[in-house]
Amino acid sequence: MSANIQAVRGMNDILPDEAAWWRHFEATVEAWLERYGYRNIRMPLVEHTQLFRRAIGEVTDIVEKEMYSWRDELNGEDLTLRPEGTASCVRAAIEHNLLYDGPKRLWYAGAMYRHERPQKGRYRQFHQYGVEALGLEGPDIDAEHIVMCAALWRDLGLGGIRLELNTIGSAEERARYRADLVRHLEANVDRLDADARRRMHTNPLRVLDSKNPMVQDVVAGAPALTGYLGQESKAHFEGLRRLLAAAGVQYTINPRLVRGLDYYNRTVFEWISDALGAQGTVCGGGRYDGLFAQIGGKTAPATGFAMGNERLIALLRDGERAPATRPPDAYLLSHGDGTHEYAFTLAEVLRGAGYAIVQHAGGGSFKSQMKKADASGAWTALIVGADEVRDGDVSVKFMRKAEPQYRIARAHVVAAFADALQKART
Ligand code: ATP
Ligand code: MG
Repeated sequence: MSANIQAVRGMNDILPDEAAWWRHFEATVEAWLERYGYRNIRMPLVEHTQLFRRAIGEVTDIVEKEMYSWRDELNGEDLTLRPEGTASCVRAAIEHNLLYDGPKRLWYAGAMYRHERPQKGRYRQFHQYGVEALGLEGPDIDAEHIVMCAALWRDLGLGGIRLELNTIGSAEERARYRADLVRHLEANVDRLDADARRRMHTNPLRVLDSKNPMVQDVVAGAPALTGYLGQESKAHFEGLRRLLAAAGVQYTINPRLVRGLDYYNRTVFEWISDALGAQGTVCGGGRYDGLFAQIGGKTAPATGFAMGNERLIALLRDGERAPATRPPDAYLLSHGDGTHEYAFTLAEVLRGAGYAIVQHAGGGSFKSQMKKADASGAWTALIVGADEVRDGDVSVKFMRKAEPQYRIARAHVVAAFADALQKART
């Protein structure tokens, strides 16, 4: 006997009860995006591997070890399942010259793929909403994104999500800083772990966000990036801080926050919940003014963020506010010879008028059908028996209050059912 085939490790089914939470989350997020004037863009799940190598950077967790990449032998192309959306979004903006008539505010949503060790809040297929503002350079747009996030947590009813903020300056400022940082790390190499030693020369800024206390100790004594910022970078950060203060957004500055991807400059931020254990970051983003040029486009400023749906939905579920789902307006059952076809077409008439009708399937006694009607949560049961067919009627029974069932005429069933449903619900 062969073993059952199961889902791929780290890739989850979202079953109907869970999906109700997802849909509530998605509806809230999409209403919020509309309020801020962002427009939807949809990119493919598969891109040329080179896009991510160039955009995200060779010496990052994602490119070094997390990508699902393969060679498509038929076309001789190296392809990758997208690990994030920003690179694809910018690629699309360049390819379709989206900025020709001015800046764009965009959002996308969907599955992302990273070959990580699966654990709570960390999966190999996970889902993000991504928000990007392309072609805008002021700190006001960075502030817009942060204030937006704060508003979304309110819309979702989520408390306790705190903001960490940092500025990492320009590429040139970071290059100067990097040299001094490497000098400091080299001088303390005996206190670095293997990971930090490896990164010290390839991507030394990543050593700053090491979780190892011994390495953190070395980092605490390192020079701070803020000391290397020029006038423009400082002014940008001050501008952002002024707007956040005006909007009453609280945050802490975390000088060790550098984010994992190469493309960031100036503003970087993360929203973190302490209720999720080790995988507490629910949203991260920042400015990436160099990315357009880095993947071959005309230079354009840009800033954005992405949030992890699984982590945010886990928080929502902790709050135990069950999402409202629409119960069926009627459960339609039929018993007796020749009644099924009559009921089948009646269901279509009512659905055509906008009602949610679940038609009983699978036969069974009248009693067992009524049990199903009850379990469905429907407001009413619509009953078709031989008598109803003979008289051209259908019987209505209220499922949530005790009142005698009565008949309505099929000839004007839409109007009569509207009336019945209103009574059933009040
Ligand atoms: P982490 O430090 O947790 O690995 P990251 O910096 O790699 O996160 P980003 O690339 O910034 O994450 O992605 C934005 C958000 O997407 C994260 O804040 C997180 O909520 C979510 N996310 C990232 N990777 C995963 C994953 N493997 N499973 C579930 N959610 C994820
Ligand atoms: Mg990661």
